[in-house]
Amino acid sequence: MSLIVQKYGGSSVASAEKIMNVARRIVQAREQDNQVVVVVSAMGDTTDELLELANKVSDSPSARELDVLLSTGEVVSSTLLAMGLKSLGASAISLTGAQAGIRTDNSYSRARIMNIDPKRLRKEIKKGNIVIVAGFQGINEEMDTTTLGRGGSDTTAVALAASLKADRCEICTDVEGVFTADPRIVSQARKLDEAGYEEMLEMSTYGAKVMHPRAVELGQLFSIPILVTSSFSNTSGTLIHGGITVEGRNKVTGIAHDLNVAKITVVGVPDKPGIAATIFEKLATAGISVDTIVQNASIENITDLTFTIAKNDLGPAMQIVKPAALEIGARDYVSDSDVGKVSIIGTGIQNTPGFAAKMFTALSREGINIMLISTSEIRITCIIKEEKVKDAVRALHRAFELEQAQK
Ligand code: ASP
Ligand code: MG
Repeated sequence: MSLIVQKYGGSSVASAEKIMNVARRIVQAREQDNQVVVVVSAMGDTTDELLELANKVSDSPSARELDVLLSTGEVVSSTLLAMGLKSLGASAISLTGAQAGIRTDNSYSRARIMNIDPKRLRKEIKKGNIVIVAGFQGINEEMDTTTLGRGGSDTTAVALAASLKADRCEICTDVEGVFTADPRIVSQARKLDEAGYEEMLEMSTYGAKVMHPRAVELGQLFSIPILVTSSFSNTSGTLIHGGITVEGRNKVTGIAHDLNVAKITVVGVPDKPGIAATIFEKLATAGISVDTIVQNASIENITDLTFTIAKNDLGPAMQIVKPAALEIGARDYVSDSDVGKVSIIGTGIQNTPGFAAKMFTALSREGINIMLISTSEIRITCIIKEEKVKDAVRALHRAFELEQAQK
């Protein structure tokens, strides 16, 4: 008998009908002689709606209260799903994150899982119950509820799979798997049968929204095979695992993009130790995560420092950069919120020349200007004008012939 952890996202449990659809799917998995632990997200846009409510009663809602409030979304969906399963004659029980033994640190709204005590889970599994765990939440030392950050139910699912030594984790969502590019932009985008953890990590970090990067990282760390699959159809999905990706070998696996990008340049910075540390320390303290960072080679000991952040962090980031720029003696600072990112990703990029040239040529043919370039071993990212991102995705998908199955 296999033990599988299935996670259902908010759109898969957005209504009573959809919850019953999920319940039937779980019963099917159980009938195939699997033990099943299920993690659910909040129904539809519940989390956003709860956040909105909080912001209506307070300009700066208490972090502790906010986490309890947001955690209720997943409690609603998990209890309804357990009831639905029972109405189909299955034995099921719902557990909150705390009841499932998920212990976190104290950082409200972005808590990290410290450890999981799976005693209760194991007991319920042994009794023959399908266990439904409320995603995205845990409990800290004070026994206060914490949440894991937006999209955190994926992390709950993979962490539980690791703790229970499950055979696999299934991320059940509203798309059929991971595609070579966003199918809403590229009509010829192809579903991948498999992808490596590294590739998937780059894909999810650089814009493919199907899975949360933190969960992919955990999967890699504990070698949990992750199947990304549809909650609504019976297609085969995309298997993310650690083996050599046959499909991606020596090729580009996919094109990721992100429209939620802003760029800040601090101009005329004195080139001396500690300057970058000053700015980025302040941004980190404010919880603003910085992505691509480029510093020019200095001319006459003056340099420019450019970096990108999420668009919605631009306001708070500028509040920090303005005084910091003064403090370090920079000449000026500028920001641009009309930028986006497009990336080519694939293990094949590693140690193989020509990928960058091909990417830049494809973009230049479309008349797309590249503002910044950043790379990892298996990724090349270009920062370009936001309005050009979709054209860029299409052009790159064509240039790397991703519509055809790779050999
Ligand atoms: N409900 C939470 C959110 O919307 C967690 C999740 O969906 O994974 O961010
Ligand atoms: Mg959600």
